[in-house]
Amino acid sequence: MQSCLFCRIIRGEVPSETVYQDDLAVAFKDIRPQAPVHLLVVPRKHVPTLNDVKPEDNATLAHLFQVARQLAEQFGVHQKGYRTIFNVNAEAGQTVYHLHLHVIGGRRLSWP
Ligand code: AMP
Ligand code: ZN
Repeated sequence: MQSCLFCRIIRGEVPSETVYQDDLAVAFKDIRPQAPVHLLVVPRKHVPTLNDVKPEDNATLAHLFQVARQLAEQFGVHQKGYRTIFNVNAEAGQTVYHLHLHVIGGRRLSWP
């Protein structure tokens, strides 16, 4: 996707604070962190929302969670607690239409 912000970050056309990358996924710091730890784990493949995930994407989806828990450990929030979130579409507040798993922690989180 030519104009997608996260595709552009993945291609290195838009700067980001990358914290992890492999063949399937890239993770970087959220530009407007909602907590001391706020990372985004993103598949390299352009998938707009969770609604667009196909059965053949299941391994990638599982991988995003593996990367998330690994980063939670690396950033020191895995014991105290953290949240993983996919916002899906407008009412949930999705603003970037390239699938991304938020990893948020480092403070007590309210719900929802
Ligand atoms: P969502 O609202 O779930 O679509 O989340 C999109 C997230 O992307 C928000 O938390 C934004 O702060 C974050 N974001 C937007 N632009 C950038 C950027 N250039 N680099 C890093 N994070 C970004
Ligand atoms: Zn994209």
